[in-house]
Amino acid sequence: MLNFEFKNPTKILFGKGEINKIAKEIPNDAKVLMIYGGGSIKNNGIYDQVKQTLSNHELYEFGGVPANPEYEVLVNALRFIKEKNITFLLAVGGGSVIDGTKFLSAAANYKGEPWEILKKSVRTPEGEGMPFGCILTLPATGSEMNSGYVISRRETNEKLSSGGPGLFPQFSVLDPEVVRSIPKNQVANGITDAYTHVLEQYMTSPSSADLQERIAESILISLQETAPKVMSENFNYEAAGNFMWCCTMALNGLIQKGVVTDWAVHAMGHELTAYYGIDHARTLAIIAPSHYRYNMEDKKGKLAQYAERVWGIKEGAIEEKAELGIKKMEEFFHSLHIQTKLSDYVEDYTNTAERIEKTFTERNWLGLGEHQKITPKDVYKIVEMSY
Ligand code: NAP
Ligand code: FE
Repeated sequence: MLNFEFKNPTKILFGKGEINKIAKEIPNDAKVLMIYGGGSIKNNGIYDQVKQTLSNHELYEFGGVPANPEYEVLVNALRFIKEKNITFLLAVGGGSVIDGTKFLSAAANYKGEPWEILKKSVRTPEGEGMPFGCILTLPATGSEMNSGYVISRRETNEKLSSGGPGLFPQFSVLDPEVVRSIPKNQVANGITDAYTHVLEQYMTSPSSADLQERIAESILISLQETAPKVMSENFNYEAAGNFMWCCTMALNGLIQKGVVTDWAVHAMGHELTAYYGIDHARTLAIIAPSHYRYNMEDKKGKLAQYAERVWGIKEGAIEEKAELGIKKMEEFFHSLHIQTKLSDYVEDYTNTAERIEKTFTERNWLGLGEHQKITPKDVYKIVEMSY
């Protein structure tokens, strides 16, 4: 196991009705900005609940953060934060709203041009971000208990990430009841995003972190078992809760400790969202199978372990098991109605591989993956395989 430090300061408030406790988590004299997306919280009652719970706080609001949080929109929120001397941010939404809020937390005290934070991936040290809390409305990203974020800029077709230890939420409310109103395509996205988060931290080699591997496998199996229950039309509170906690645990830092991590699937996937607006999770389902097949030699040991321990495939040589594992992964995505080829989403995709190769070369992203040896030329081939 590699050396590691682990600190995750986010307080989790899990369960029905926990939202009513947030007034105690936010200082009484705070000037609070509630940040939300396109309005789903007004239809499912969460907006009213927050207003009521914080009725004794000085509360402002900024709505309209779009999916794949857009820089131009967030800059308006930043202006508002400065004008009103806001001191506490409250994200009420999914990964997009939470990531947008993290960017605002980082930018609120940043001296330079805000886009620099993303362009140069400026980290936010402990104690420097504006304090914020989250009310999670869509289990998927794990953003509610980690310190990373991803922001898009349509003007330049960029989707870039940053983070830092100063950007953990102070608290996050995880109430499974929110799952009731989530459209099934977004539930499918959530399962797929969380599943791929685990894969990015697990499908690597070498590793001798036995416990992290077993936890990772447990999250994968739990997501597989929970998927049909949360995709069913009948709301099931217990299944919703398990789904939610799996998504949080998939990316709260625990399973990545002491191991090498990949994240090449996300790097390539982000480009597909930037170019074509494909949902984040679906871009991962497009890239992951090709990525694993292309890197079979390096990853076959872990792929075979995945096939064996997660899917119960006991027979066959390592390569056969590894390929069967990838097939099972594709079948799982398909069972969620998530397609796994770029051509399922985009009509004119023929220059995508060239474009991503060129972009990564320009950004100097010359070695991706757990061994930093996936070159832009390899990226070209992986993306081409996913057409
Ligand atoms: P999202 O973009 O936050 O939300 C997708 C859609 O679901 C929105 O239209 C949203 O509506 C709706 N929605 C959310 N909660 C709902 C509810 N309870 N009922 C009905 N509709 C609801 O989706 P996401 O998958 O959570 O976030 C994706 C973003 O996170 C991407 O930009 C991705 O790159 C990023 N990401 C971040 C991390 C990280 O660790 N920070 C990891 C992976 C991905 P509203 O607009 O009305 O809210
Ligand atoms: Fe993700």
